[in-house]
Amino acid sequence: MRIKFWGVRGSTPTPQAENLRYGGNTSCVEVRLGHALYIFDCGTGLRSLGHQLLHESNGRPLFAHIFVSHFHWDHIHGIPFFAPMYNHPQNLFVFHSSSRNRSLKRVMEEQMASPYFPVDMSEMKAKRDFCDIEQGRIPVSDEVTVDCMWLNHPQGCLGFRLATKQGIVVYATDNEPGDAIFDKNVRKLAEGADVLIYDAQYLPEEYEARKRGWGHSHWREAVNIVMESDAKELILFHHDPDHNDACIDKVVQEARNYYPRVRAAAEGMEIEL
Ligand SMILES: [Zn+2]
Ligand SMILES: [Zn+2]
Repeated sequence: MRIKFWGVRGSTPTPQAENLRYGGNTSCVEVRLGHALYIFDCGTGLRSLGHQLLHESNGRPLFAHIFVSHFHWDHIHGIPFFAPMYNHPQNLFVFHSSSRNRSLKRVMEEQMASPYFPVDMSEMKAKRDFCDIEQGRIPVSDEVTVDCMWLNHPQGCLGFRLATKQGIVVYATDNEPGDAIFDKNVRKLAEGADVLIYDAQYLPEEYEARKRGWGHSHWREAVNIVMESDAKELILFHHDPDHNDACIDKVVQEARNYYPRVRAAAEGMEIEL
């Protein structure tokens, strides 16, 4: 299994020099298992992944399962710029998410409706399926199980756990601590995982002072979760737009005082399991 980070920023892209070592694109993580392709979230990082996929496929059709945690802009903004959606009628993308009281297809199409974008989804030649999911197990393939659970975020957010023989990766972003049910959900998702990718948007002191109720976490809670769930490696993710590279370096150093296997997600970073 190979995990690659294409977008690691939270809230909004930050293409400014002091952020570029970790990266300015918003949430997008690729997981490869042989030829099988799984994508977690469609932030602006999805655009670069799309170019890479076109380059690799060399004209052959592409297929991917795409798990969308929720529909805030930083998690969907790459969709209109994902070139494989336009280029090949045999490409197939299966979107999985929960849109609650509207259909997933409609929620995805509306983000490209007039007047928000110059062309609508009918311009996209690729085939697409929309699977409205609920908390629980999502059937994807014989070799892979994907489980999802609700996290604590305005309008809701799903966390995902992808398990194979090679290992377990958990993608749990946009989650605020402090609610007993969701605190339990995220620990259950993370249980024994090889890699836990988790929301560390704020510094603990920022969270306490002025960010309660905004739906995000901080590195100290991330460390609590990794230790309480017996996950192995912690990847701090969804970096705040106002946290530059030096700030994130400092967060990693501090977190390592509590738990040694901590890294901050950076664009282009890869993990092999
Ligand atoms: Zn977000
Ligand atoms: Zn959000």
